[in-house]
Amino acid sequence: MEGLIVEPSRTYQKLLSSAVESGGLETKQASTGGEALNLLRKQSFDLVFIAMHLRDMDASMFSSHLRADNRTRQIPLVMITSNEDKKFLDKAFSAGITEIFAKHELDKITRYTAQFSSKRYRKIMEGSILYIEDSLSIATLTSQLLRDNSYTVDHFTIGEEGIEAFQKNTYDLVLTDIMLKGKLNGYGILRAIRNFDDEKKYIPLLVFSVLDDVARKIELLRSGANDYVTKPLVQEELLARVNNLVISKKRLDQITSQQNLMHDLAMKDQLTGLHNRHFLMEAAPSKLSEARRYRISSSLIVVDVDKFKLVNDQHGHATGDFVLKEIAYVLTEFIRKEDIVARYGGEEFVLLLSHCDLANALNIAEKIRKSIENLHPAGLTVTASFGVAEMQQESEEGFSELFKAADHALCQAKLTGRNKVVGRYL
Ligand code: GH3
Ligand code: MG
Ligand code: MG
Ligand code: MG
Repeated sequence: MEGLIVEPSRTYQKLLSSAVESGGLETKQASTGGEALNLLRKQSFDLVFIAMHLRDMDASMFSSHLRADNRTRQIPLVMITSNEDKKFLDKAFSAGITEIFAKHELDKITRYTAQFSSKRYRKIMEGSILYIEDSLSIATLTSQLLRDNSYTVDHFTIGEEGIEAFQKNTYDLVLTDIMLKGKLNGYGILRAIRNFDDEKKYIPLLVFSVLDDVARKIELLRSGANDYVTKPLVQEELLARVNNLVISKKRLDQITSQQNLMHDLAMKDQLTGLHNRHFLMEAAPSKLSEARRYRISSSLIVVDVDKFKLVNDQHGHATGDFVLKEIAYVLTEFIRKEDIVARYGGEEFVLLLSHCDLANALNIAEKIRKSIENLHPAGLTVTASFGVAEMQQESEEGFSELFKAADHALCQAKLTGRNKVVGRYL
């Protein structure tokens, strides 16, 4: 990274150069505007510092030269002056000066440079970008620019193909041209993405818009674009906008994963990884009313480990925990995606089975009973008792009645010898 110092006095040139170098930039020096513009034609600079008055032009004039050339228009131009007149400073800003420092503020200049260079040198965001652009020449340049800045880029020329890739893969940003050759233009892409029915629809969207078409830019934002860049592209601008959007996407991802973690902590049993009682009480009523609406029968199995207190007493609490985890794992092997299995309390588990009548549920409970009997966790013989109840299609009862019925059946199983399955209709 290199800064250009444009300053007529040799002495101050040295002072300023050393202040900028302390901020982490290398420097080259020029004494006149003409000399500086020459240097800028030959090589690229990241930052230009300029005195207010030079022998051949003033800073404003230099600025208009700099801003007129596509290759240099985006370079920050810092003016060094001792004039603090507000009107004068305003005029300088409107002439394209980026920042102004007083001559004696060398410390400030060092800090500014350090901030600038660390921003550039900061570990660039890694991220994957879906890029839809039908002009191959622009696409090649842009993809290269993004790849040079550690992004991965999937480029498509046709909107439909882009959307297909979007569906299959995970991206951090979608970058799309507005005018595309296929049926789907940029607006169509915005709408298609914002209408996705999962989390994917919140991805940041950055759109290339036509220069200075205000109405179109507003329409873009209304259609769900987060930001736009105008063509012809200014590389630095594109990168800055891409970086900003990817950074906020990563923050959002972080928040989402923290939320998921909180949700897990609130809804999952930490020992077994099953749902906890809290989750069951929240999810079961709506599951049952949905089942009733579609005239589907549901069954509930309540499982209680037999004489579990003895396991703890004779083999220790840690062994007890291990046994519970092993039993929990067995339970998960007998359920389908639409079922719920939860640890209801200590050594008691609950399975809520959809599309399952009493005969089916008794059958499943019996299979689980045998599996537990044959499990021998930690080398022990462990059994469990089962209470099963069915919620019939026409029943008006709720979850608590269903639970009472299954629990009642469980009591009977306990009273009549344990290690058995007892069922009843609600
Ligand atoms: P029953 O056949 O009548 O169900 O007898 P039981 O001993 O299983 O029943 P009881 O309700 O008397 O005892 C349950 C035991 O489960 C008591 C408690 O120490 C143990 N327990 C509850 N939660 C945990 C746990 O998280 N880890 C361990 N290791 N033990 C637990
Ligand atoms: Mg196009
Ligand atoms: Mg119990
Ligand atoms: Mg028990």
